[in-house]
Formats: sequence, C-alpha cells, structure tokens
Amino acid sequence: MKCLNCGQENKDAAKTCKKCGRDLTIPPAWFPDARWHLRTLAIIYACIIVAYFGISYLLRRLPRPYKIRHIPEEMTPWLRHGNKHIPEDQLQAPPPAAPAEAATHPSQK
Ligand SMILES: [Zn+2]
Repeated sequence: MKCLNCGQENKDAAKTCKKCGRDLTIPPAWFPDARWHLRTLAIIYACIIVAYFGISYLLRRLPRPYKIRHIPEEMTPWLRHGNKHIPEDQLQAPPPAAPAEAATHPSQK
C-alpha cells in the first residue's frame, strides 16, 4: 500500500506509514473534478429552467385578479378598454340585484 502523503511503500496490513506516520486506515479524501462540477451545474440549471417555465405556465393559467369576481364595469372604469377617464357624473350605478336573490337573503326576513 502506497502512502498518500509521502509515497512510501508500506505493508498492506500496516495501519500507519513507517516514514511519515500518517494513518493508513483513513480512506483518501474525495475532491470533485471539473467534470463533476459541469455535470452538477448542468443539473442545477436544468432544474431552474424547468421550474421557471413550469411555474410561469401554471401562473398564466390563473385568471387575472380583477376577473375572478364579476365586478360591474361601471364600478371599475379604469379597467375599461382604452383606459379612458370617465367623468364622475357620467358614471352609472350597477343594476339592482335580482328580486329572487334578495328575498332569500337571511337579513331580509
Ligand atoms: Zn507516509
């Protein structure tokens, strides 16, 4: 067995180097080489790219926040096409709720 520290040839059963005294029972340390770095970085970048496109695809499928609820257009004039300013006196109130819907409301009884 060759000593990793000084290169001295020792017996296979030896526990320490006879020249420098290094413990031969400790396995040599592993250091990553350039190929390992390239492969690891490629995997990390691939995961980031896949996650970016996957998350952006899922977020694109969500409805726009102002389209989740059906808000009358008169109440949100800034969302109107063209984004034109509407004077306050020209704004109209939303149409009243359906009578059947109002009769079933518990606070009406
Ligand atoms: Zn040695």
